[in-house]
Amino acid sequence: MSTFTQVIAALKQAKRILIGSHYNPDGDALGSAAALGIALERQGKKVTFFNRDPVPFNLTFLPHADRFVRTLPKDASFDTVVIVDCNAAKRVGGDFEKAIKGTRVICIDHHQLEKTEGDLTILEPDAAATGVLIMRFLEEAKIPLDRILATCLFCAITVDTGSFRYSNATPDVFLLGAKLVKAGADPYEISKALEENYPAKRYRLLAKSLATLQVDEQLGIASIDVTQQMFKETGTGPDLTEEFSSFPRSIRGVEVALFFRELPDGRLKVSMRSKGHVDVAKIAAGFGGGGHVHAAGCTFEGDAAIARKKLYAALAAAIGKKGT
Ligand code: 5GP
Ligand code: MN
Repeated sequence: MSTFTQVIAALKQAKRILIGSHYNPDGDALGSAAALGIALERQGKKVTFFNRDPVPFNLTFLPHADRFVRTLPKDASFDTVVIVDCNAAKRVGGDFEKAIKGTRVICIDHHQLEKTEGDLTILEPDAAATGVLIMRFLEEAKIPLDRILATCLFCAITVDTGSFRYSNATPDVFLLGAKLVKAGADPYEISKALEENYPAKRYRLLAKSLATLQVDEQLGIASIDVTQQMFKETGTGPDLTEEFSSFPRSIRGVEVALFFRELPDGRLKVSMRSKGHVDVAKIAAGFGGGGHVHAAGCTFEGDAAIARKKLYAALAAAIGKKGT
């Protein structure tokens, strides 16, 4: 692991920087990438912001959201690459994996270690959000916060703490939130953009998805599904499924909530949320995925029905009970 001093020194030397964050980006991935990139541009650096997937509509309010590119020219050349909110180039995906060959790689993340390609790595699984680590970077680099940086970082921390509600919302996180609001972040404007800005069709999709609700009371597992057919019928896509897992999660007695999403190629992706002692990052890792103790995900290869059975068996073992 590296220190912020080392990362600051490396970035001081850098001229052309590529910043990438994980595909299916969330507010922490894009908020952290935007804040870091904007700060580095102020230091005179040339910055390219990359994400393989489109900016979800509820994050288009982020300052510089329109700067994210989804592809990179073949002859693009960078001297330094920063991976934020994940720690493996394969989680960034797309052109990024090729573009980083032969460049210095810096990784700033708070997920359980997968496999870091970072020459310099700051990885703190206890940090509530990558945004918290970017705040620390700015402070140590003596880059002052302003409304733009504060908006990006408040979004990052809001999203990863469930609006300052989850178990990672520590006193320190509230203090950072206060600092960001003082610097100009507007909590209501940000939460309005994030959560009070959905197109009606999201609720048509949600209605179909909620109709698939399954609850295993014995195990304390609830799940909902979204299929490609549902996307088609409602004219929606995966960017409108953000936070769907909060519905099975909100049921009394549920320990682990699952949100299954069918991918266009028929494979199954699951988002897991744990409300207690079950480490879903460990379970996701067993299926080639990852994440945090309380929020993780993975994509299953092969037959979806078999994958579900295997997942329930792994969860039952972790919960320590037999299912219904
Ligand atoms: P979500 O369920 O919202 O997609 O993701 C929850 C958390 O798990 C996020 O921190 C996300 O980065 C991580 N995560 C989700 N899917 C995967 C995956 O397939 N692999 C890894 N390594 N992490 C994942
Ligand atoms: Mn994060």
